[in-house]
Amino acid sequence: MHELALTESILRILEAEADRQAFTRVRAVWLELGALSHAEPDAIRFCFDLVMKGTLAEGARLDILRTPGQGWCMACAAEITLGQRFDPCPLCGGHQVQVTSGDAMQIKELEVA
Ligand SMILES: [Zn+2]
Repeated sequence: MHELALTESILRILEAEADRQAFTRVRAVWLELGALSHAEPDAIRFCFDLVMKGTLAEGARLDILRTPGQGWCMACAAEITLGQRFDPCPLCGGHQVQVTSGDAMQIKELEVA
């Protein structure tokens, strides 16, 4: 499952941050998830509880913030907002659209102890 691998990569980031910043517990994680990413928030939540069991982030709260997708329409030569991957350009209806942001996932903030 895609979301399981993503959640395991979150755990590795948390462990690296714990080493760097010398904290031992993670209480909450704010995760930014682009609207164009392939990950399902519900599936991430499910995997998060599973993967964090027995780790420094066991029982941590997970807040998922959706960020809009951005693309570049080659026909309009304009920056456009995309609701979903493979959406046509909202200005001209064309499909010559390159995704420029909103397809990534990143940890925005941590609450630690
Ligand atoms: Zn266009």
